[in-house]
Amino acid sequence: MYKNDTIYYPQDEMTTVLLPVTSGCIYNKCAFCSMYKDYKYREIPFSDMEMHLMNGYKYTEKIFLTGADPLSIGFEKMKRLLEMIHEYLPYCARVASYASIRSISMYSAGELSLLHNSGLRLLYIGFETGSDDVLELMNKGHTADQAIRQAKKLNEAKLAFNTIVMYGMAGKGKSAANAIETAKMINRFETNKVITMNLNVFDGTELNEMVKRGDFILAKANERLLEIRTLLENLEPRRPMLFDTTHPTNIIMIKGMLPQNRERLIEELHKSIKA
Ligand code: SF4
Repeated sequence: MYKNDTIYYPQDEMTTVLLPVTSGCIYNKCAFCSMYKDYKYREIPFSDMEMHLMNGYKYTEKIFLTGADPLSIGFEKMKRLLEMIHEYLPYCARVASYASIRSISMYSAGELSLLHNSGLRLLYIGFETGSDDVLELMNKGHTADQAIRQAKKLNEAKLAFNTIVMYGMAGKGKSAANAIETAKMINRFETNKVITMNLNVFDGTELNEMVKRGDFILAKANERLLEIRTLLENLEPRRPMLFDTTHPTNIIMIKGMLPQNRERLIEELHKSIKA
């Protein structure tokens, strides 16, 4: 599959020109994820990407690389791809992409800096949680320490990124502790934005099997809202950072800067929490 693939992209990139780089997910083992279950991982041939760019609008300003984790193609290919984008779309000022902690760990800080200078300006990274227990339960393939190390490397390379986290992921009774661990992790690095998503259980996933067996008990909506509040209360960004729960999976839509809008965000949240 490739041309008929379902394409996933962040809601902030709704108006961005999309360029397919990979099909499927090279990892494809997260217990909660069904997105790429039916797709075999493969890289899109450079000739296909070149064709896309050749037929692109010359004055395109923003490109989003699609695929679960386009950085999995490695440094040399990423560099070549960014050069090709620049060649065909000379006015493109910003290339953005999904990335994983695993793929970032393949790059040195120097290589990330070079990619940044070649036009890669924003990554969207699924950190999910700062709790090692939950990361293991969900088979995410990285630990909180590894995530912090890679995030700091991106900071060093001045390559900006958004941090995607998922509430509800720890299960019933564990949400507040999960939020504290997640905030602790995020407080160790600089990120442009925290994007929250709400855990959903999809058919065909290991999580669905865990729920059926009774090994994972879902947190109710109120507990999930309290998890967002705990996260908000414990985030201490080193520089202003956007907090955004407006992705469609969320049970509440709030958005504002931290730390300055913290009180307003908590107040909006409180209106939805049942006493
Ligand atoms: S969450 Fe991301 S890394 Fe995990 S299986 Fe899904 S697409 Fe792959």
